[in-house]
Amino acid sequence: MSSKYISRIMKEVAEKNPHETEFLQAVNEVLESIAPVFDLHPEFEKNKIMERLIEPERVIMFRVPWVDDQGEIQVNRGYRIQFNSAIGPYKGGIRFHPSVNLSVLKFLAFEQIFKNSLTTLPIGGGKGGSDFNPKGKSDNEIMAFCQSFMTELFRHIGHNTDVPAGDIGVGAREIGFMYGQYKRLQNEFTGVLTGKSLSWGGSLIRPEATGYGVVYFAQEMLRTRCENFEGKICVVSGSGNVAQYTIEKLNEFGAKVVTVSDSDGFIYDPKGIDECKLAFIKELKNVRRGRIKEYACEFKHATYYPCENPWGIKCDAAFPCATQNEIDVTAAQTLLDNGCYLVAEGANMPTCQEGVNAFIKAGILYGPGKAANAGGVATSALEMSQNSLRLSWCRSEVDQKLQAIMVSIHNTAYETAAKYGCPGNYVVGSNIAGFLKIAKAMTEQGVV
Ligand code: NDP
Repeated sequence: MSSKYISRIMKEVAEKNPHETEFLQAVNEVLESIAPVFDLHPEFEKNKIMERLIEPERVIMFRVPWVDDQGEIQVNRGYRIQFNSAIGPYKGGIRFHPSVNLSVLKFLAFEQIFKNSLTTLPIGGGKGGSDFNPKGKSDNEIMAFCQSFMTELFRHIGHNTDVPAGDIGVGAREIGFMYGQYKRLQNEFTGVLTGKSLSWGGSLIRPEATGYGVVYFAQEMLRTRCENFEGKICVVSGSGNVAQYTIEKLNEFGAKVVTVSDSDGFIYDPKGIDECKLAFIKELKNVRRGRIKEYACEFKHATYYPCENPWGIKCDAAFPCATQNEIDVTAAQTLLDNGCYLVAEGANMPTCQEGVNAFIKAGILYGPGKAANAGGVATSALEMSQNSLRLSWCRSEVDQKLQAIMVSIHNTAYETAAKYGCPGNYVVGSNIAGFLKIAKAMTEQGVV
């Protein structure tokens, strides 16, 4: 019964969005894992919840013209996908990267709906961005672009409507420029963006939250096998926000992180990326905005592998923290063959579907991004609460809340998977748990 319904939805979504490969990948993954729910809840099929859920409430596309340092006019495309507001205002990051297109942002916004539901906080799903490439741009050019981007976006967002945050290519600098322009146009100081600087409404722990949360989630997975991180060899991809704080927390928990990467290649440091080397990476990436190959010039015992990813390095645990589909089926099999038995996704959808299937078949601890990296958006929601209260909580208070949220997400996914007959399958557990809350809210709110 449910399989017929799911097949029909999959066919329809593929026909309606024929060129949106990332979006279709994300939808198929969810549909396959939530099929058993429809047998238990026929009202969801009757109310056409899935048909409505796969259609964004609103897609905004706009021109972003700006002038570069040479006085040349440049034109980029801006987007905001307001996918689902059944349980709260749209919430999700803004990505600036040349690969950004409608399909990428729709997949990210769709995943965000389930992730945000899992946090138990009142936030709906959205995502936005632009095909603008921040690499090599001056601060002045970044500001010009951010101001132009916000000059259109401001009319579509608001602290009770849609609250964007950062993502790839959007960090504290970009959030600052966009917030400044929003405030100037709207003439109000509200928590309309998260990831703000501490001195004007940001939350302690927000920069660390995604990476720390991934490790808290992974720790809970290890606990189910009565293990911890002490002495574990870990490989991490990426060297941006999520990667940096994943490494920081892994070090704190006694693990040894041996890789880090960017889009040009990866570093293998067999001695481990300790606190001092991590400080070098933070300065290199966040201040000088340089390339990761410089690490091997600074620390001579490390090796730089251009144009390669780190998945061939033997490890106990892998933390993809760069981008979507960075682990293909071959890389997934290599990780398994080398004895890796824990994968926790800092990035969104970093593993292709065949890779996910291989992890699940092998019975390893596999934490999908939707659950494992939800600490970032959860702490953004905590930033929203502090803004509404006009108060700020101390570091330990936010960190404790983050830890409690990650433990709760883990337990919900773990218990839901067992309840639906797939013990240990965090994909099934997180998709079903996330879906149930949204489906119930959509049912109760009528046909909107
Ligand atoms: P950053 O821009 O800070 O860092 C991204 C890192 O990934 C950089 O090292 C970048 O290298 C690398 N990277 C980006 N694109 C590619 C690519 N196509 N191939 C190889 N490497 C690439 O972004 P974040 O750390 O914020 O985000 C990383 C991932 O985590 C994304 O998938 C994002 O959606 C996800 N995420 C982020 C959250 C957050 O709070 N920031 C929350 C939840 C998920 P280079 O510098 O060469 O481009």
